[in-house]
Amino acid sequence: MKQSEIQMQEFAARTQKSKAALENGKKYIPLGVTSNFRYYPPHPVFVERAEGGRFWDLDGHEYLDHNLCFGVLIGGHSNPVVLEAVSQQFEKGTMYGMPYELEQKMAAELVSRFPIDRVRFANSGTEATMHAIRVARGFTGRDKIIKMEGCYHGVHDSVLVSFKPPIEKAGDPKMPTRVKSSLGVPDGTADNTIPCTFNDLEALDNCFRANREQVAAVILEPIMFNIGVAMPEAGYLQAVHDQCRKNGALFIVDEVKTGVKLAHGGACEYFGLKPDLICLAKAIGGGFPLAAFGGRLEVMDVLEKGLVFHAGTYNSNTVGIAAGYAMLTKVLTKDVYPRLSKLNQMLIDGYNDILKKNGLKGYAIGAGCNGTVQFAEREVKNYRDWLHVDEEMWKVWWYGLLNRGILAQAYAWDEQWTICVAHTENDMEMHLDRVRELVPLLQKAQG
Ligand code: PMP
Repeated sequence: MKQSEIQMQEFAARTQKSKAALENGKKYIPLGVTSNFRYYPPHPVFVERAEGGRFWDLDGHEYLDHNLCFGVLIGGHSNPVVLEAVSQQFEKGTMYGMPYELEQKMAAELVSRFPIDRVRFANSGTEATMHAIRVARGFTGRDKIIKMEGCYHGVHDSVLVSFKPPIEKAGDPKMPTRVKSSLGVPDGTADNTIPCTFNDLEALDNCFRANREQVAAVILEPIMFNIGVAMPEAGYLQAVHDQCRKNGALFIVDEVKTGVKLAHGGACEYFGLKPDLICLAKAIGGGFPLAAFGGRLEVMDVLEKGLVFHAGTYNSNTVGIAAGYAMLTKVLTKDVYPRLSKLNQMLIDGYNDILKKNGLKGYAIGAGCNGTVQFAEREVKNYRDWLHVDEEMWKVWWYGLLNRGILAQAYAWDEQWTICVAHTENDMEMHLDRVRELVPLLQKAQG
């Protein structure tokens, strides 16, 4: 039996209540979960409660939580500062569907952190990228967008293309073949999405050349956080922006995962970027649904003039805004970032030390409060590289840690861990100790 199967069996045996809960849920909910990303075999852990940097499952086990709702909860579960702000807002109304002053303060906070002049709110990362793309199309009068193969930007039709295409269908990396990522995405929409290869300026040039004066925007994640962690090569992001300018296209940076996490001013600050549009979600809501898209004045003017339509009943709902504003102004202040990076570096260095000393394939990599282990021979720089990650080793690591009280990251080798303000140096040490216990199993797994 494979090492990963042994770990999964152990996991199944210790989480019997989660197993029963999934069976029950399947009577009402397809696959028993309400987002495809929440399912993994043999059954996902069901949460009983969560607090700070930890959660407890139905069988009573405690876990150090590095998933933190797919990286949302940099402030930890139920951050008391956020709860206080939300309970005060509860007294004043949970939804208005009318303008109010706190949304302006939140907008001003985002404008002060990011190189944008105007911002509008939405409720999810999906909405943020959907609206930003529509703004770009409206502004340029063009329909096509270039997106990076392997990048995830949510579940609307324009971006559910070449998310994780099967390699046999993906074609030449210098000009990838478009592959729809779901049934139900119309050909007419998918045809306007051009897949490209991350960290490859020649591929980008090819995409632009083949679609002259038709590209409205390039959208990308500045660090590819949906193939683990793939850093942009030095100068790559600026060069993409320059290419966009040259071709009359806008540069959209999807900061759903990086915004207010990688740094106080997200990836724009970290890499010194000034894109035309940015997309925000996850951490900006402090644990409640909130998203935003913003850009320079001239671009966002299409909204001011009513040329591009944007609306939504739940946009800037008072609870999300109150939570997000408290999170940004009282929790995620400038001094927090060095502390989180230090903890993250402790984990990264610890992992690299363990891997090296024990002859294990792979490396740990990260930035800001996020990181992961890529069980690969060489550095993952794009989606095609990521396909070489050793799934067996990853599963031994992930289920092995789960069986030892650590949720290392959300399920699958395309995710990464998050460090939150409630985590401590002791937590990092405990995490690394548990990894040391797994070394013999990982050695067997790599054969
Ligand atoms: N963009 C990126 C980079 C993401 O990682 C995600 C979600 N993981 C989204 C967009 C979509 O966000 P949501 O799930 O809130 O729709």
